[in-house]
Amino acid sequence: MKIKEVRVTPIAFKDPPVLNATGVHLPYALRSIIEVEGDNGLVGLGETYGDLPILNNLRKVSGRLAGMNPFDINGLRTVVDEEIRTDLAPGFENLNPGTHAAKAGANTFGAFETAFLDLQARSIGVPLATLLGGIVRREVPYSAYLFFKYAEHQDAPYDADDWGEIMSVEALVASARRMVDRFGFKSLKLKAGALEPMHEADCILALSKAFPGLPLRIDPNANWSMPTALKVAERLNHVLEYYEDPVPKLEAMAQLHKVTGLPMATNMVVTSMAEFRENVGIDGAQVVLSDHHFWGGLLATRQLAAMCDTFGKGVSMHSNSHLGISLMAMTHVAASIPNLTYACDTHYPWNNEEVLTRRIEIKNGSVAVNDTPGLGIEIDRSALNRLHRQYLECGLTSTSAQGDYMRRWQPDFSSKQPRY
Ligand SMILES: [Mg+2]
Repeated sequence: MKIKEVRVTPIAFKDPPVLNATGVHLPYALRSIIEVEGDNGLVGLGETYGDLPILNNLRKVSGRLAGMNPFDINGLRTVVDEEIRTDLAPGFENLNPGTHAAKAGANTFGAFETAFLDLQARSIGVPLATLLGGIVRREVPYSAYLFFKYAEHQDAPYDADDWGEIMSVEALVASARRMVDRFGFKSLKLKAGALEPMHEADCILALSKAFPGLPLRIDPNANWSMPTALKVAERLNHVLEYYEDPVPKLEAMAQLHKVTGLPMATNMVVTSMAEFRENVGIDGAQVVLSDHHFWGGLLATRQLAAMCDTFGKGVSMHSNSHLGISLMAMTHVAASIPNLTYACDTHYPWNNEEVLTRRIEIKNGSVAVNDTPGLGIEIDRSALNRLHRQYLECGLTSTSAQGDYMRRWQPDFSSKQPRY
């Protein structure tokens, strides 16, 4: 089999004004949709970041893939290595590490690798998870991803969503109730680092009362100083499943773990095998949050999980704003990893737009893997075209200006980190 054509389509979808350590989400999230069409008429799908530098890299590589065998993953690696030069050393910290220039090769490779593997699986008529080593779980659990948010975007670019403002403890618990009732989530994660840390800790305590027994996580994206992180740990030690990136730097995470005994999780300071090795040396994070988008694809995610197993680390999964292709890629790789025992993160419930013929169903807090070949999903051509037009019309080529956007609500908002 040969690849006949590769299409890379940038899209924009509506993203609610949720808060994080760096500011507020912009009105649109950007993604790139990858279609790799084989000469057998089948199409493999991939989805990744839509920021312009990444889109340009995807376009560069896509022009060289026609004529290749989609089973030649090493051949894809060679093309990406030739086209994408990444001379930057690891050791940066970023709330969204996948869009950092140091990840250019990994995320370009990962985007096409997912589509190649999907095309392989469709061609031999098996679910992608089967191709990845076999299905060890049919239901992949996800956590309810809770945010503080404004009621609507500045200048109302479109109708406000029906979540309303979420700032108070009561509103946060109500949003969790809605998530749990609607999707059946069995663990809860709070995106923190946005408001006063003690208010955020109060929210976790209220969640533990409202949802007794559900595992709870808090993720301030390294926006807390050590004294703040210690104070919050003192209040939450008895209710947290893990403590996600409370402070910057791996060494500080190690110290915090030693003092509090809490398992530390990260998607910020262990983002490559070089950092993984360092982490094993100092035991900074006990849970690694994998993400196939910036770890370099689905096979690399399985390798990461094997390394976590070898070195006694837990594995969970990180997420940025994404649509259903990413969700199903996450689900299939998670379905194939025996030691992925924590519920994964997903932003999916916050998004109402889709490029697929159907939305992915989250039931009992899980996404199911069935026996449909590949990722088990199909592109809706008219929806893809509509979201591509939305990309062109919204004029965004990056969504990183979240601090500037926050200053439209709070003119004195500081981008200094850690802020608390
Ligand atoms: Mg995180």
